[in-house]
Amino acid sequence: MSDRRTAKRIAKFVKPLRVKPGSRVDLAEDFDPRYRAGMKKRDGVELLRTGVSLLAEYQARLAAQDTYGVLLCLQAIDAGGKDGTIRHVMSGVNPQGVHVSSFKVPSAEELDHDFLWRYAQRLPARGDIGIFNRSHYEEVLVVRVHPENLDRQKLPGEAKGPGVWHRRYREINDWERYLTDNGIKVVKVFLNLSKEAQRTRFLKRIDLPEKNWKFSAADIHERGRWDDYQEAFSDMLSATSTPWAPWYVVPADRKWFARICAAAVLAHTLIGIDPQYPTVDEQARKDLLVAKHRLEREAPRGAARDPYASKHRTD
Ligand code: AMP
Ligand code: MG
Repeated sequence: MSDRRTAKRIAKFVKPLRVKPGSRVDLAEDFDPRYRAGMKKRDGVELLRTGVSLLAEYQARLAAQDTYGVLLCLQAIDAGGKDGTIRHVMSGVNPQGVHVSSFKVPSAEELDHDFLWRYAQRLPARGDIGIFNRSHYEEVLVVRVHPENLDRQKLPGEAKGPGVWHRRYREINDWERYLTDNGIKVVKVFLNLSKEAQRTRFLKRIDLPEKNWKFSAADIHERGRWDDYQEAFSDMLSATSTPWAPWYVVPADRKWFARICAAAVLAHTLIGIDPQYPTVDEQARKDLLVAKHRLEREAPRGAARDPYASKHRTD
């Protein structure tokens, strides 16, 4: 398929997942966690393979051009599939060009800084793809659902107050705009899991010994706050999907489909950047030709000058 047609196909595929900037999202109403665009798993596997090799090619170009960076933020409720998505989507790209950062409960040092500080430390450089496994959005999710987290942040009185979440949305939007203006493109994927799918995934984590480590008693407690999280997700999606850093809501009940969607969103972002291999100027081109000429003159006259070739000769 031609590049143009591939780009068009991907754009069409991701469009229904995109949260229109300024729209009011009601997650349960607007996005179905079981949606699969009429696709079958068998076709999906092939498509993901194609997507992964496309990403590898674009990542190589992004690195060579060294002008833009890409930040992919992944958010989800527990068992939403963030780790598996990262593993599969990035499976084909050069590990040198990708950095994954996972964000957990903040440390004492992190709490001693402004709320975006620890995320700013992990931003991708130009030429790199950075993945945030959880992100600065936890600051308006878990921190909102459990306000005791906000108390730990040692904020001055005037920075807490009732308007704190809307202020944070604005500050996040401004920060992402600043990054975009400076060549770091931000794209955000929310893995949308249903409550029933979370239940079955939790049960699997409990039943299979090799998955036990993934489950903690706190997960059940968090599940008890399901509705509060859904509300925080809806508000976050409504307030922070912007033209420069859009949110994509990816149906997450089927892991294979979620991975295709995440790969497509990332590919769409890279296609938008359209990174190019740098070309050299005329003088540099002349220098290359001189070097080529020298190398060619060095070429072995007889095969005997190449010890490897002589050792393995069979004729
Ligand atoms: P996991 O990703 O399962 O290893 O869990 C990481 C934990 O860190 C989750 O329970 C998150 O809710 C928690 N976490 C991440 N970011 C923050 C934050 N900014 N404040 C408080 N807790 C957080
Ligand atoms: Mg967990």
